[in-house]
Amino acid sequence: MQETKEAPENNGAMQFDVNKLTRPNIQKLVPYSSARDEFSGEAKVFLDANENSLGSPLPKWYNRYPDPHQNKVKQSISKIKSIAAQHIFLGNGSDECIDLLYRCFCNPGKDNVIICPPTYGMYEVSANINDIEVRKAPLLDDFQLDLVHLENLADENTKIIWICSPNNPTGNSFYRQDIETVLNNFNGLVVIDEAYINFSRQQSFIKELAEYPNLVVMQTFSKAWGLAGLRLGMAFASVDIMEILNRVKPPYNINQATQELALKALEEVGQVNDMIRELVNMRNALTEVFESIPTVEKVYPSDANFILVKIKDARKVYEFLLTKGIVVRDRSNVKLCNDCLRITIGTEKENTDLVDALAEWVNGK
Ligand SMILES: *Cc1c(COP(=O)(O)O)cnc(C)c1O
Repeated sequence: MQETKEAPENNGAMQFDVNKLTRPNIQKLVPYSSARDEFSGEAKVFLDANENSLGSPLPKWYNRYPDPHQNKVKQSISKIKSIAAQHIFLGNGSDECIDLLYRCFCNPGKDNVIICPPTYGMYEVSANINDIEVRKAPLLDDFQLDLVHLENLADENTKIIWICSPNNPTGNSFYRQDIETVLNNFNGLVVIDEAYINFSRQQSFIKELAEYPNLVVMQTFSKAWGLAGLRLGMAFASVDIMEILNRVKPPYNINQATQELALKALEEVGQVNDMIRELVNMRNALTEVFESIPTVEKVYPSDANFILVKIKDARKVYEFLLTKGIVVRDRSNVKLCNDCLRITIGTEKENTDLVDALAEWVNGK
């Protein structure tokens, strides 16, 4: 990986060939053709998919298979994100998108990927499930990308670099120029996981898709949209990459209930924006309160809906909070996060309860 200024713009990306990156078995794959694929027009009588024509115990049309392409949901997302529907892929949570990227592009027992820990755990778990080697370029002390280490780790079998920005669990965004350097100089896929982008002032990389054929952006309905229970994740990429993901995904990976409910939620983008503003305000207020607690050594600046707090005796604090019925995420054994707790922003009342419990802990000592 070179500095951007030394390399001509888009140097690496220009040689990017998604077909060469795809696993040979996937290149040859003839996808399953569902009943809904072979006939998707208007008809009066559907006797092509062995559904129960009498109905179901539930109202509505749950006796029917859902749209395998989720066209309505994609149209709605397309408007909100200002990107054509053909660049949108939907998965059963981001977790399915992560798994599919491995299954499409990484040869088990041969290829490798690079992660930048501390980061989201699923990149590594999913790699292990798929028998893909994981190489690690830990973040620098300031939680930014180590570009030199990344460059040294990448070889001809490196298929994916996972970049989570804003990052979980550190909460910060990476320097945009660093991410661009990776995009410009790496010939495999660069996946930017933007699960927390709505809570940050950073611009999404969705706008850069036309410039970088090796870019995949992931977002989710689990965080800002408040729909973790629905299991709906998004991936945005070139039409070529979309074609391959669609070839491999289970035909009906997004169920009918999720598609209907997501469509309904997408009409309420104003309400979601209000919640985002409120969560960001509470995050900033809670940061100040935490900074005033004597045993808190550091509150890391957050671009997400959680804060990472370095606190004396973190594990003991964690256990004390449990006795108060409050569960936070103990990251105190994670490298670079020694003595850190990751705390999700709650409701006003929940945040107050947390602060009260911490005051009790400090006073009791
Ligand atoms: C929460 C989170 C997700 C969301 O995963 P889903 O499967 O969509 O719920 C993705 N990436 C990161 C980094 C997260 O923290």
